[in-house]
Order: sequence, then structure tokens, then C-alpha cells
Amino acid sequence: MSSELMVYIDGKYFPKSQAKISVYDHGFLYGDGVFEGIREYNGVVFKLKEHIDRLYRSAHALTLKIPLTKEEMIQAVLETLRKNKMKDSYIRLIVSRGVGDLGLDPRKCPKPTVVIIADTISIRAGDAKETGITTMFSWVRRNRVDSTSAEIKSLNYLNSVLAKIEANACGVDEALCLESSGCVAEGVGENMFIVKNGELLTPPSSTGALAGITAEVITALAAKLGIKLTVTNLTPFMVFTADEAFFTGTAMEMVPIREVNKRQIGTGKPGPVTKRLMAEFHKVIKDPTQGTKV
Ligand code: PMP
Repeated sequence: MSSELMVYIDGKYFPKSQAKISVYDHGFLYGDGVFEGIREYNGVVFKLKEHIDRLYRSAHALTLKIPLTKEEMIQAVLETLRKNKMKDSYIRLIVSRGVGDLGLDPRKCPKPTVVIIADTISIRAGDAKETGITTMFSWVRRNRVDSTSAEIKSLNYLNSVLAKIEANACGVDEALCLESSGCVAEGVGENMFIVKNGELLTPPSSTGALAGITAEVITALAAKLGIKLTVTNLTPFMVFTADEAFFTGTAMEMVPIREVNKRQIGTGKPGPVTKRLMAEFHKVIKDPTQGTKV
């Protein structure tokens, strides 16, 4: 048996080095497809049903008919994890339009391609949770909601990639993305929250942000802890003058922000509301009732 990771492609498993799809796949040619990033903690896939629901919503917006029922997709994810005997993995679930011709017409793609990868991910420095990270507003605006909106978790991530390139070039940990009117949308793959006078504020998804599942967890935790949360437009000024700020996302989990475009946020250290939520968040992700057992 191979010691390589096994990747699911259309119902079959291939060793990672042989897991390949056609160059005629419209996911590759046109970014025509959808995906999810999901985490498994200690044998439980965190919020798996919620991720599957979002995948099917994104696909619906693209009129992409996923060739598996939601239950079959859940079973395929669990089976991939079992095959790989992985613990604390990161799952990448991709459904592309499938193989077609060189024109972009989706009608030429009879069968969507389904890929499930169970691996690990590392996107932040080891002590980011303790020290917080630096960020900057990038020149790259989020697409408008009547464009390839970030509301759809599609394979079109060039908007985020451009913002990330800018952050890299400036020696900053992560980019913040503004929407077309100049208010804050989100990070490149994270939602954003600020804290002002002990209360939480976060932008609405109508700014072109993805409806984050981690953000939903934070929303529920805030309600449980009695911390007021308002969903509202955030201006750059509101962010510069916030007491605290943090990102949420499956890959990044929850990470404090200590600097935005060289402006220190609050004391420059993770604040009390952020720390309290982080402590609760780490309890929730370990709670087996919050996910689906492998
Ligand atoms: N925004 C974008 C653009 C993302 O790609 C992600 C990651 N899926 C998020 C926000 C955070 O969403 P979630 O908490 O569901 O991972």
C-alpha cells in the first residue's frame, strides 16, 4: 500500500502524485467551479453539514449540478478521511464544471468533476494567535455583488490572490479587501470583526464577503457570552480606530489583528474581547457535537 495521501476524484482514489484532472477541465481553463475548505479536529469534521450546504448553494448560483446528493458527498468526505487515517486534517472539496472544449460554454461540459483532498494547511506564523498579525488595505477592490462576488465560493480567487501579492510585496502578513464603495469587505480568505467599546461589529455579506462559517460560530458565541454584535458597513476609519480587530476563517481559525496600514489597533496586543472569544472558540472546535464523526 502506498504511504502517499489518497485523493478522491469522481468516486475513485488516486495517490497524491497521480491525482490529476484534464487540462480541458473548465475549472482549470476558466475557474468554472466551486470549492470548500473544511477542518477535521480529533476525528470530527467541524460543521461539515454547513460546508456542504454552502457548496451546493455556490454551485446553484453557477447552475452547476453536483452529481452527488448532499448525503453522498458527506459520505465521500468521511470515506476520504478514513482512507487517509488522518487526524486534524484540512479538507479541500472541489466541484468543477468538468471537461469540455476550449470554448467557455458550460453546456459543452457534460459531467462535473468532484475532487476531495484530505491534507494539512499552514497559513499563519506559529505565534500569530498570541501576537496578532499585521494587515493592510490593498488597492484591489472586492468584485461587486453583480460580478464574480465573493458570496459565491467559486474557483475565481484572483481577486484575493492580487490582494495577497500586494501584502507580500509590502511585507505585511495579510491583506484587507475593500468593496466598491470603500467600506471593508473581508480578508483574502477570512471574515473580519472589530471591537469598539466592548461591542463587536462586522460587515454584511452584501459588501461582497463570503458568509463565513467560522464567523457564524463567532456570532453564536457572542450571543452566548452576551457580547453585542452589529452587522454594519465598516469604514477604514472605523477599523483604524477600533479597540480590537480579528480575522475568522476555516484555514486561519481566529487570529487577532494588531496593525492596519501601519496604524496600531488598540494596544497592539490581542484585546480582552478577542481573547475571550478565542478561548471559547477553541472549546467549540473540540466539541464533538459541532460536527460529523469520521
Ligand atoms: N472569505 C473568503 C473569501 C473565504 O475564502 C473564506 C474561507 N472559506 C472566508 C471568508 C471564511 O469562511 P469560513 O469561515 O467559512 O472558512
